[in-house]
Amino acid sequence: MRLGESAGRTHPGKVRRRNEDSYVLDPPLFAVADGMGGAQAGEVASRLTAAAFREFHEADRLPPDERLQAIIQEANRRIYDRAHADSDFSGMGTTVTAALLTGGRVTIGHVGDSRAYRIRNGELEQLTDDHSLVGDLMRSGRLTPEEADAHPQRSVITRALGTDPDVDVDTLAIEGEPGDLFLLCSDGLTTMVADDDILGILDAAPTLDDAARALVRAANTGGGEDNVTVVLFRVEGDEHVEETLAAPLAAAEGNGQGDTNDLEDTLTDLQPVAAPAPALDPSPSPPRSPRRKRRRWARRLFVVLLVLGFVALLLGGALYGISRAYFVGADEQGNVVIYQGVPFDLTEGTGLYRARYVSRLQASQLSEEERASLFDHELVSYDRARARVAVYEAEAVP
Ligand code: MN
Repeated sequence: MRLGESAGRTHPGKVRRRNEDSYVLDPPLFAVADGMGGAQAGEVASRLTAAAFREFHEADRLPPDERLQAIIQEANRRIYDRAHADSDFSGMGTTVTAALLTGGRVTIGHVGDSRAYRIRNGELEQLTDDHSLVGDLMRSGRLTPEEADAHPQRSVITRALGTDPDVDVDTLAIEGEPGDLFLLCSDGLTTMVADDDILGILDAAPTLDDAARALVRAANTGGGEDNVTVVLFRVEGDEHVEETLAAPLAAAEGNGQGDTNDLEDTLTDLQPVAAPAPALDPSPSPPRSPRRKRRRWARRLFVVLLVLGFVALLLGGALYGISRAYFVGADEQGNVVIYQGVPFDLTEGTGLYRARYVSRLQASQLSEEERASLFDHELVSYDRARARVAVYEAEAVP
């Protein structure tokens, strides 16, 4: 089992001026945090949490559930310490719902009312229990789910990061199946969009990126009363890898029977194929003298070095080009960022670029047209990129 597509999106909604949600899309690690507190405190709390997920690598070697526990405890401590060091931030807190995919297993850790769902066979299954007032009442049977949805205090949570030196984290692990889709979201989605509509949107979207965008749009259409954040990832089977591995082996065997579907057969055939390999050499008959052999090796070595040299030259040129190119984009928090490099990801999570300048300007402060023209991924000099961003900063940043 492996990770398939993944996507994330956040939006301030239609009522709130600030976006206090944050998310982490750092496969195989995913998280959503919904901050709360006066002034900018909610943003700080949820961003401290997202940062802990990206930076706290001391937990990397722990088993999945302990790893999530450790990261969340670290985030809790950072928020708690900050809240006590600076009165502007006293009382701030955040929810967090995180998922870690290891092999075929998805481990969830959570505090508060941001939720994790699994979508399998067209059904939406809530994996987390809300740590909220209405969640408690519902579990004890005093409220129906419908009453809970409409309850005036539905956003009051009973557990959060940052309020105590230690926090009680719920963890659970479930075995994924190929095709399983996982959704992490803040309550800005679930209070605005009904389960069936979420399912319909997920079903209709061609990619998870489209799905994330459409879910946010639906929350805004439904009222957009809160910040809304969604993170999606899919678990897939390994068949692709096995097929491409199996095909050349079967071909080399040359028995033409084409039992490539039977992986076990192919794998047991592996040894006999490896053994008679020298027979495939086109000129095997005359026994070669040691010197001739040595010359052949020298020639091969020369060719290999030549190819390596050429590759190094290409890479060097590419790196030089990349180091001088800049483009304008936005980071996961929605800030406009000037990146050094080129807008490509080698693999999920390793891009050929790094942030050089993070603006206070939020991408959401721009109109759709402005975003289209600013985020055109055109490669420019750093000064040119700064000038392009400055135009909008002057208008939007107070
Ligand atoms: Mn919220």
